[in-house]
Amino acid sequence: MTTGTIFDIREFTVHDGPGIRTTVFLKGCPLRCAWCHNPEGFVRQPQTMVTPAGRRVVGQDMSAEELAGILNRQAEVLAANEGGVTFSGGEPLTQAEFLVAVIDRLEGIHVLLDTSGCADAHDFRSIVQRCDLVFFDLKLMDPALHRHFTGQDNGPILANLRQLAGLGVPYVVRVPLVPGITDTEANLTAIAEAIRSLSGLVGVNLLAYNRAAGGKYPGLGMTFEPTWDETQPVNASLAPFVAVGLDATVLGLRDHEGK
Ligand code: SF4
Repeated sequence: MTTGTIFDIREFTVHDGPGIRTTVFLKGCPLRCAWCHNPEGFVRQPQTMVTPAGRRVVGQDMSAEELAGILNRQAEVLAANEGGVTFSGGEPLTQAEFLVAVIDRLEGIHVLLDTSGCADAHDFRSIVQRCDLVFFDLKLMDPALHRHFTGQDNGPILANLRQLAGLGVPYVVRVPLVPGITDTEANLTAIAEAIRSLSGLVGVNLLAYNRAAGGKYPGLGMTFEPTWDETQPVNASLAPFVAVGLDATVLGLRDHEGK
């Protein structure tokens, strides 16, 4: 029996991919993005979180059979609404074996992987090949800035992006806009240059900054310490993408709910 740990299952989501979807949030992430608004996704282990409604445990162990069963019971409704299942997190690929076991048990459900791309190359390929669509986050092209703000090198992420371009699965590149950090013209231009010739890319989404990003940290005994001015408007500049012929869109906070 393959067991995974999830911290939320959200039904009837309309901003995590096409149609009406169920979004499954898997616990555990190798990155520590300074702007992350889902800190309960950092570690794999269940945690106690203090909320205005009281203390609750975030993180639930579940077998692949159990999760696939829940999702399969929704298959008809999801298909009727041109939707499916989105796996998000955390980083869903940290539970690659579990994810494979769940996806392989799904009965004709559209599968979307929402990933940071920070994963073992073999796991990445294995899971992407089981998906219908991928949301691939790109944060910072400068290696030193990426390391500073996420705690990890972007080399393996970019290698997985290049791998993704050869797998024949459509994908959207998503860029979280953090004022003065990821939204600089230099960073957006570097991202546009990096992805302009990749095959399989069906669009670019610039994601609005979540000003409530720090809300969950105190409840987990953590501190949110933005080094940027959260009140500063983001530079939602499509020009670098349009200039290289890419189809890019800015999504407001209500238009993206996942990672
Ligand atoms: S923003 Fe996404 S990739 Fe970054 S730490 Fe949070 S869950 Fe992980």
